[in-house]
Amino acid sequence: MSSLPYRGRFAPSPTGPLHLGSLLAAFGSWLLARHAGGQWLIRVEDIDPPREVAGAVESQLATLAAFGLQSDLPIQYQSRRHPLYQAALTQLLEQGKAFACHCSRADLAAQGGIHRHCVASQQRAHPAIRLRVDDGSLVSFDDGLQGHVEQVVDRDVGDVVLLRADGYWAYQLAVVVDDAEQGITHVVRGADLIDSTARQILLQQALGLPTPHYLHLPLLLDASGDKLSKSQAAVPVDATRPLPVLRWLWTALGQPPAALDAATQVDELLQHAAAAFEPGRLQKTSLRAPEWPPA
Ligand code: GLU
Repeated sequence: MSSLPYRGRFAPSPTGPLHLGSLLAAFGSWLLARHAGGQWLIRVEDIDPPREVAGAVESQLATLAAFGLQSDLPIQYQSRRHPLYQAALTQLLEQGKAFACHCSRADLAAQGGIHRHCVASQQRAHPAIRLRVDDGSLVSFDDGLQGHVEQVVDRDVGDVVLLRADGYWAYQLAVVVDDAEQGITHVVRGADLIDSTARQILLQQALGLPTPHYLHLPLLLDASGDKLSKSQAAVPVDATRPLPVLRWLWTALGQPPAALDAATQVDELLQHAAAAFEPGRLQKTSLRAPEWPPA
């Protein structure tokens, strides 16, 4: 763990407009960074063109700007950082920690999709590259909110894809390389990514990179305690009305609404929020969302 000054980030994939869940991660990571007197960066994770939606980068950045959430350093784009990922991959290949793999999804179906050794039925022109995960790769970490987490990566995940057979970089490699290269000390993101953390730590260890602190915010639940439905969770946030949405997110983060009552402008609201934020109020398991849409 590093003793560098706090540096957090928000790293959206441009697969559509920002929805409530992603904005919650953005605001939560911003609040924790400000609370620690640290920096907060935005990184656009545009390395998966098949999943990207035209105009989503611009719309996501415009939404963040409308909510007053500005990157403290120039925004980085993963699409412009391929040489960094290539260097990491070359290092792993040269050290014998990664290997070319011709297995298809269908080949691995009998193993539950988990790769432990190659069972390819035919050679591919462009094989995937995987990280070799040793037997008994138990990884544990102390999540800033969720507590102690353990995963047996060889058993639960298998050999991790670094370069996909379609030629695109895997999220796992790019995120690990970028978090280290950008000096990120604290990764704060949604609980849907907690399951990726152990393999990211394993990859950091293979590359000789430091492991940041991790904190996974719980998923949003609706007022009756059910996971926010796909359609609710996917509702794009209304960037023309940042104040009610920020107040709504603040309450969803377990913080007292009254702290923001006096604010009439976005910047003012963010200042009040940064001053009043108490990480101890974050809930570990679920965030009971207030009624949506906000009045
Ligand atoms: N780009 C990822 C996503 O939008 C998040 C990556 C991360 O925070 O580690 O789901």
